[in-house]
Amino acid sequence: MRSTMMDVPLSLNHLLDRAGHIFGGGTIVSRLPDKTLRRHSYAEYHRRTRALAAALASLGLKKGERVATLCWNHHAHLEAYFGIPAAGGVMHTLNLRLAPAEIGWIAADAKDRFLIVDDILLPLYRQFAELHRFERVIVFPFSGAPVPEGFDDYEQLLADADADGFVYPPHDENDPVAMCYTSGTTGRPKGVAYSHRSTILHTLVGCLADFWGLKGTDVLMPVTPMFHANCWGVPYAAVMMGVKLVFPGPHLHPDDLLDLMQQEPPTLSLGVPTIWLGLIQAYERSLAEQPGRWKMPQGMRSLVGGAAVPESLIRAFDRHGVWLLQGWGMTETSPLATVSYPRAELGAVSADERYRRAAMAGVPVPLVDVRIRADDGSDAPLDGKTMGEIQVRGPFITGSYHEVPVSDDKFTRDGWLRTGDVATMDELAFVRITDRTKDLIKSGGEWISSVDLENALMAHPAVAEAAVIAIPDEKWSERPLACVAFKPGQAADAAALSAHLLEHSFAKWQLPDRYEIIDAVPRTSTGKFWKLKLRERFPK
Ligand code: ADP
Repeated sequence: MRSTMMDVPLSLNHLLDRAGHIFGGGTIVSRLPDKTLRRHSYAEYHRRTRALAAALASLGLKKGERVATLCWNHHAHLEAYFGIPAAGGVMHTLNLRLAPAEIGWIAADAKDRFLIVDDILLPLYRQFAELHRFERVIVFPFSGAPVPEGFDDYEQLLADADADGFVYPPHDENDPVAMCYTSGTTGRPKGVAYSHRSTILHTLVGCLADFWGLKGTDVLMPVTPMFHANCWGVPYAAVMMGVKLVFPGPHLHPDDLLDLMQQEPPTLSLGVPTIWLGLIQAYERSLAEQPGRWKMPQGMRSLVGGAAVPESLIRAFDRHGVWLLQGWGMTETSPLATVSYPRAELGAVSADERYRRAAMAGVPVPLVDVRIRADDGSDAPLDGKTMGEIQVRGPFITGSYHEVPVSDDKFTRDGWLRTGDVATMDELAFVRITDRTKDLIKSGGEWISSVDLENALMAHPAVAEAAVIAIPDEKWSERPLACVAFKPGQAADAAALSAHLLEHSFAKWQLPDRYEIIDAVPRTSTGKFWKLKLRERFPK
């Protein structure tokens, strides 16, 4: 027999119309370059987004063609998230923190036809304009200044477009809607293309109560850049639910974020651990130096991922009334693949156990299969100890890269994505990421987790940041070197740091052979610790 259900394709257009028709009174707040706040209702957002789609269609955008964005987090970027797919196009978010040559290479590789760019980012655009010719460059007048000659004016295009008369072109649910490039830390960056279907399924899963738990009454502050893995997919969920959004614009300094959190207190936020590390340090300093300057929004939850989340960071925020919810994923996984949340089987666990679990990557989300493959190709036992490569499969996991032949180093023959992350899984399906394959320290046939050492070091009261890398060693093949940045006015010597690690149940042979004092750990384009730079600085 056949199912009797209607054959209606999953579609972002449905979410967009829902926002306009059902949640028209909802609010989207954007912080402008001059730090003032601009507000739009979801009704305005709906009309403007449809106007963008109509404008792109009248410029001749055809199905499947790419429109790049080079933008900070704000309402117009959110308009691109839905307006480009509504016109049948594919939104390609360019990472504005990459080197200009790399941005140009990526735009050329994706064959981006049009570009939407913030006016304040035009100097960056000019640095790679030679490398790829966009047919139209549409400038969003974010700063309020007139759009320079020779470019299309985003606001003018919207004003001239026929939003009311626009009809969505028909599409299949597997048609692409968005595209992101992987960071390319190993080899050239590679494109991942998401579909209506993958995006909607990911959105629905993410919204479940144990994960983002997004509610209509939430106030959401996305600090994760909208060019980083679609801002983890959260903007799609916000539009689906008509949730109040607070976009920080280009102001991501901890002081600016704390100021914004006073003006528009969020209930839910998201960002990589380094953002929260900086924020808690600024906040705790303010308690001593300027008490009362800032209040932490009590009961706020924050989604944290993209890199390991130190337990000490989770504890520090919890002391101030904020809960960090860890997830693991990658550009290739849409990105949410696991989340750490309290499972029923855990029962009433001790506070220590709760923090320990919260500092893990967590449990696979529905629709995502996860397995840990040991070196010999067997499945690692679920003992929380045996390490192996984490491999994933599912309807929002990429099965290939844009115009790159499928290769054995990225996909298994039986159709799983090889993540390049090393992990353990325990009997409750909690995944613990021990390292990226390339960061793992192989010492005398044993593996030492750089992540475990870093997290323990960052729990030392004098340590602001720590990154551990492998250095070559004649006898042991590799040994750990710890790079440590202290909090202002504080310090600890190697003996004290090693004693601290021994207290954290590290064995003697796992301790770093050396400590190097640095000012700060270098950051990647998505704000994570950039160990490659440290390896270059400390080759031995
Ligand atoms: P990149 O970091 O290379 O720019 P992504 O943003 O796609 O690219 O990051 C994916 C990688 O980030 C994962 O493969 C993993 O190494 C790391 N990662 C993500 N979440 C976590 C987490 N919760 N714990 C540890 N590592 C994480």
